Amino acid sequence: MEGGGQILRVSVALSAATGKPVKIINIRSKRTRPGLQPQHFVAVKAVAQISNAEVKGLQLGSKELEFVPHQLREGDFFFDIGTAGSTTLVLQALMPSLAYTPGEVTIRVKGGTNNPFAPPVEFMQCVLVPTLKRLGYEASVGMTKRGFYPKGGGIIKAISKPIRRLSPLTLTDLGRVIKIRGFSFSSRLPPSVTEGLTSGAEAVLRRAGYQDISIENESRKSWESQCALNEGSGIFLFAETTSGMLFANDALGRKGASDQKTGMDVAEGLLSQFSTGAAVDLHLADQLIVWAAMADGVSVLRTTQLTLHTVTCLEISKKILGIEFQIEGREGEPATIRIEGKGIKNLSTLA
Ligand code: AMP
Repeated sequence: MEGGGQILRVSVALSAATGKPVKIINIRSKRTRPGLQPQHFVAVKAVAQISNAEVKGLQLGSKELEFVPHQLREGDFFFDIGTAGSTTLVLQALMPSLAYTPGEVTIRVKGGTNNPFAPPVEFMQCVLVPTLKRLGYEASVGMTKRGFYPKGGGIIKAISKPIRRLSPLTLTDLGRVIKIRGFSFSSRLPPSVTEGLTSGAEAVLRRAGYQDISIENESRKSWESQCALNEGSGIFLFAETTSGMLFANDALGRKGASDQKTGMDVAEGLLSQFSTGAAVDLHLADQLIVWAAMADGVSVLRTTQLTLHTVTCLEISKKILGIEFQIEGREGEPATIRIEGKGIKNLSTLA
């Protein structure tokens, strides 16, 4: 399976949501820096705090963990990764249990808001949270400060409302693209950076025949409170279709690379996802699995590309919740996933 942080995050998330203890061994053992890195450490600490868990083996570098959750809590929490580690991956580990707290929860996480190989904060805001609303789960994600590698220091804030039970999802129909939105962002760099990112993306999208396009430029100066601690830039694009599906693509700017070209590549990457006719992009697919596994009924997802991340989430969900699933299609190709959700209920009387 996918030997990164995914197994860890999904395991503690489902453990906290259901009250079932888990033991995780060989954590990230084949990675260059094996075991728990700061982002994983804080993710486990955060889920433990929300679920009043007793945890054995929670230290940096640890490759084995025993997690025994108890009652879920409501309230306000703040977690500092201490590095530029991804704040959104900490949130990814937390969110499934947040659905089952007795009352509203506010979470602030400090670290990176836009990292390679992690959901950018915009993905949580514009794609994941609106899609989770279709299961009945309501949350919001805001950003008070941007954080880039190497200094981090960005802050995201999530507010989560608990739910009695999650509804299943059928996401199979792509529909037709109705609009494309986006953000080009930079900190401590000249406005020409975001202008280049946006103009590159717009040129590709217009050439492909899309009319309803709006990309906002956010160029933060050092004296603005939302400005990152060090320079950085990026572009995030997302498309909405007639069936309510949301597709995204993004990239960080790179020193020496043409911003215009980065914008063009991100737009081309976005458009290429529509060619399969599938409804769920590869990142959203792996992130929806735990939710479908907890939901009350059968979910069906048609994904543009079956990834090892997605298969890993399915196998871990099966192990912990005892769900059944079927996959039609092969890894690396479009696939249809059918998940018989466990119908996890919120036992608190207040939710
Ligand atoms: P891992 O590789 O185990 O750290 O997991 C990375 C997680 O980040 C997975 O849930 C991916 O779907 C997600 N992810 C990585 N890159 C992106 C991206 N560009 N947009 C949205 N989600 C992403």
